[in-house]
Amino acid sequence: MRPVIIAANWKMNTTPADAGELAATIAARTEEPGVIRVICPPYVCLAAVRDALAGKNVAVGAQNVHHEQAGAYTGEISASMLAGLATWVIIGHSERRRDEFESDELIGKKLARAIGAGLRPILCVGEVLAEREAGRAVEVVATQLRGALAGKDVEALTAAGFVIAYEPVWAIGTGRTASSADAAAMAEAIRSTLAADLGWGRLAEDVPVLYGGSVTSANIGEFLGEHSIDGGLVGGASLKPDEMAGMVARAAMTAKARAGAEGEPA
Ligand code: PEP
Repeated sequence: MRPVIIAANWKMNTTPADAGELAATIAARTEEPGVIRVICPPYVCLAAVRDALAGKNVAVGAQNVHHEQAGAYTGEISASMLAGLATWVIIGHSERRRDEFESDELIGKKLARAIGAGLRPILCVGEVLAEREAGRAVEVVATQLRGALAGKDVEALTAAGFVIAYEPVWAIGTGRTASSADAAAMAEAIRSTLAADLGWGRLAEDVPVLYGGSVTSANIGEFLGEHSIDGGLVGGASLKPDEMAGMVARAAMTAKARAGAEGEPA
């Protein structure tokens, strides 16, 4: 049974002075069984969020990591620097692909560094609007997956709890979402690519696939109603405790239903 995950991407919001309080409020408002909660604040807020979440069963994630261990990379943060601060990391977010020109190859290197340092990666993939409209969304996402994952140690990735977030770029921060049917079809296409193209076989079925793109408490139920979708990577709404409370409560219903279905005799 795949886990149900709600991951908060705070992007470039909050400061070390206010991040801890927001994280603690969200933790208190989202105490639901069966849902993995992850908060990814800016680097400089990681320590404050870690301290605020101590003993609260909410994981802390970074929003990025460098692909090298150390060296002359001004302003960058390596995976080993995150030790003790974060246990998860977002890799290949579309804002970094767009603004920092991150390639699939570079993203693959980041993934390897992340798992080498014991971090749990969330790999983001997704097409731009023109690609969706041209009917090329699945092809684009499959290319991103092959570019980042070809030749990677499948066992190590799955042991690290590797997660994929399908985030159509045109849905991020726009208030527009993919239809749940399209998102579910993409989640299935992602697992097919892993299983067939990349040779992951059965292990592909165990990889959680999240949907991201203008998710809110009002629409998350549509996505969580799809068997192939295992949660959400949430940007804007994740800064609002009421929204987080609603999304995690809905996710807990899915987690409960899955646990029930698992317990049923065949
Ligand atoms: C994101 O940052 O990954 C995201 C999906 O943002 P938003 O929820 O604001 O669209």
